[in-house]
Amino acid sequence: MTSILNADLHCHSVISDGTLTPEALAERARTNGVELWALTDHDEIGGQHRAMAAAKAQGMKYLTGTEISITFAGQTVHIVGLGFDPDNAQLVQGLAQTRGGRGQRAQEMSDGLAAVGIKGAYEGALKYAGNLELISRTHFARFLVETGACKDTNEVFRKYLTEGKPGYVPHRWASLGDAVRWITQAQGVAVIAHPARYKFSANEEYALFSEFKTHGGQGVEVVTGSHTPAEYVKYAATAVEFDLAASRGSDFHSPDESHTDLGTLPYLPGTLTPVWALLADRIQ
Ligand code: AMP
Ligand code: MN
Ligand code: MN
Ligand code: MN
Repeated sequence: MTSILNADLHCHSVISDGTLTPEALAERARTNGVELWALTDHDEIGGQHRAMAAAKAQGMKYLTGTEISITFAGQTVHIVGLGFDPDNAQLVQGLAQTRGGRGQRAQEMSDGLAAVGIKGAYEGALKYAGNLELISRTHFARFLVETGACKDTNEVFRKYLTEGKPGYVPHRWASLGDAVRWITQAQGVAVIAHPARYKFSANEEYALFSEFKTHGGQGVEVVTGSHTPAEYVKYAATAVEFDLAASRGSDFHSPDESHTDLGTLPYLPGTLTPVWALLADRIQ
């Protein structure tokens, strides 16, 4: 399959920390010319059957998706899964387990914010969470914008929700091996999400890519809303170096917050193997 395809294989709905329903996302993707779509909610596949039906109603091809939070070398890394069986019991159970710590973490985040004078953040964030199990920093960020504490969610992350800031609570997510195995044993392909976003040394990044390969990972996001054009070039080379297929996705969350809309990124470089070439028989 060609790399010249308007595939958008990374976005979020109200089932995690996006603001649109799977149906509204499907319609927006189609309007923007997306030909192959995947909804990749964080640590959650509860929206997959809805997304699949919505894609079909829009006449768009679909791959199942999720974005799993893991801890690697002390940092949070995201692993996208594509084309898996959404009813696979081990995958469903693994994701349920990894969602488990979010409620407690949210309470602790709220305590940290209260200590600097921001009251009621837990209840405030909860109003924005469409799925209580998936309460995330994004929902806190929306509440802090609502209160006028910050002008936008980016500022909230910078001042309150990143390492060393009052609302930041370190959390241990799944392991790299677990996430890759949950995806691959369900017939999916595992993909390293937005590698330029992590703050790894060259050695740590090398370790991430080589261990990912050892566990059976097969793809890396090259063209994503989180990368600059220079980073497309850098990670195209990394894809070749590690013999990984390349993925493309906007990481769209909300019309009000996301700078990259569904389906609007440049095509993948023609020299790379697109991840959808590995998933031809999984496309719905
Ligand atoms: P969590 O899984 O609760 O740690 O929240 C992570 C989510 O926060 C990511 O998936 C992004 O949607 C969002 N996020 C992370 N960093 C930023 C940032 N600097 N500005 C806006 N949103 C961010
Ligand atoms: Mn998110
Ligand atoms: Mn991510
Ligand atoms: Mn994402």
